[in-house]
Amino acid sequence: MFQDLDIRYDNAWRKAAPEADSVALIRREDGILAALSDGRLAFPAFGQLSPAARGLEWRYAFTLGESEYFLTQWDDESPLPEGFEFVASREYRNLGPKDAVFAAAVSESLHRWYEANRFCSRCGKPMRDSDTERARVCPDCGLTVYPKICPAVIVAVTHGDRLLLTKYQGRAFKRYALVAGFAEIGESIEDTVRREVLEETGLRVKNLRYYKSQPWVFTDSLLFGFRCELEGSDKITIQQSELSEAGWYRRDEIPGDYSGISLTGEMIERFKNGTDDCG
Ligand SMILES: [Zn+2]
Repeated sequence: MFQDLDIRYDNAWRKAAPEADSVALIRREDGILAALSDGRLAFPAFGQLSPAARGLEWRYAFTLGESEYFLTQWDDESPLPEGFEFVASREYRNLGPKDAVFAAAVSESLHRWYEANRFCSRCGKPMRDSDTERARVCPDCGLTVYPKICPAVIVAVTHGDRLLLTKYQGRAFKRYALVAGFAEIGESIEDTVRREVLEETGLRVKNLRYYKSQPWVFTDSLLFGFRCELEGSDKITIQQSELSEAGWYRRDEIPGDYSGISLTGEMIERFKNGTDDCG
């Protein structure tokens, strides 16, 4: 999956200023500034930037391997370093190397959060960064806002040797998927699993087993992968606002074109290959 890196990811928050060899993650609405060569992304070093760009507001993001990464929002006025362009997430998510794709996607999620919390949502005053943790604080009314991470579930429902596959309605993503949805306030993540399966397909499930999680930062989500078994009737009633289709598929009927970056892809793949213990 896209977050499985071969190098250390240290995201403990701290106050730090960029050095010449720090990695610069520069975001504009249409993507992250990177050089593209042979399907690989590379980011500029802080020291390569113009004095105007170095003078922007920079924030420490995280450390990957031995490199410290800092982020800023592009101001549209500074000259771009030669050989670099803004690359959108739909383009870079299937490129390499893995650590660069991860860094770009995580930084965009952080950027979106900083951008959405420039002003206090309670009193409207400008907010500032906390001195002690990754948080935005309103100096006027005291509201504290933490990074936006939305918990959601990905559910592999099995019925004997068949797996429940779905297709989303009206989305760019056209491949088969699993039942998925966001947790609501006041429910356990297991209840989210039962509710989403019931809402999207009309089915009931039992024997829930947690598989693993994935920080799906492209949509500011934290995904919890669950496996479970059908309980009762296997008759599917699809929620037409969410799904265009849903059905039961035997291992040999499941198409094999799953992306290696997603938890959904890994869960479908494991069922198809018989390496999943719930089939
Ligand atoms: Zn306020």
